[in-house]
Amino acid sequence: MESILEVKELKKVFGEFTALGGVSFELYKGETFGLVGESGSGKSTIANIIVGIHSPSSGGVIFKKKELWKNNKYNCNEYGKIQIVFQDPRSSLDPRMTIKSIVSEPLLAFPKEIRREKGSRENLVKLIKSVGLQEQHLDRYPHEFSGGQRQRIAIARAIITEPEILILDEPTSALDVSVQAQILNLLKDIQREKHMTYLFISHNMAVVKYISSRVGVLYKGEFVEMGNSKQIFDCPEHDYTKKLISSILG
Ligand code: ADP
Ligand code: MG
Repeated sequence: MESILEVKELKKVFGEFTALGGVSFELYKGETFGLVGESGSGKSTIANIIVGIHSPSSGGVIFKKKELWKNNKYNCNEYGKIQIVFQDPRSSLDPRMTIKSIVSEPLLAFPKEIRREKGSRENLVKLIKSVGLQEQHLDRYPHEFSGGQRQRIAIARAIITEPEILILDEPTSALDVSVQAQILNLLKDIQREKHMTYLFISHNMAVVKYISSRVGVLYKGEFVEMGNSKQIFDCPEHDYTKKLISSILG
């Protein structure tokens, strides 16, 4: 398995509080790595460091052999190769922008020619259809859509740059259960077609079981267990993992 991203001894402190105590893991090309743990365990902090929103207190992230954080500066030269979808599609989509401008926004950082090509009407139509929406939706505004549709829009915005890594931070947690499955299946279809690597974050073990090939269990900013999905779910070793799994059964 070829490694595409390496998180090395990542530490993050907020004031006196240690949110991440030195976590390490790798993402292998084409896999879905599920990051689980209850609320406050540090999942989003990891995601935010990888995409450049937070800086690490120590440790680092290596993407395709290059250090993303150097001297407290984020430098991902290959722009748009790591993208993220957040939990709440209500707050993550600007209500004043049309869907067309929302999904093409990540292209603003690209040179004009690429922007013109990827942002062409033809391409945007293809993109919006690939997430299960229609051409006429491009000219509408976020409030005209349901939660599930908004998350489809957020996914379209994330994949317009053809990322190699897509980070999904609780992408279905704000949605009705019936809609959750549709979004998970959409993500599976997209991955199959585009061969992307997913870092899938959730506090919901059932969701992680459904989508992940490998799983890491985070507890208070440390991994307590990591392994193949089957191994984690069939023979969990750590009591905390057992507790999370038993919560699926209700
Ligand atoms: P998760 O995504 O697993 O719910 P987070 O990574 O969001 O957890 O947060 C981990 C811990 O770090 C929490 O206790 C949270 O309160 C704290 N934390 C996160 N961001 C900040 C911040 N900007 N300032 C202070 N504390 C924070
Ligand atoms: Mg979170």
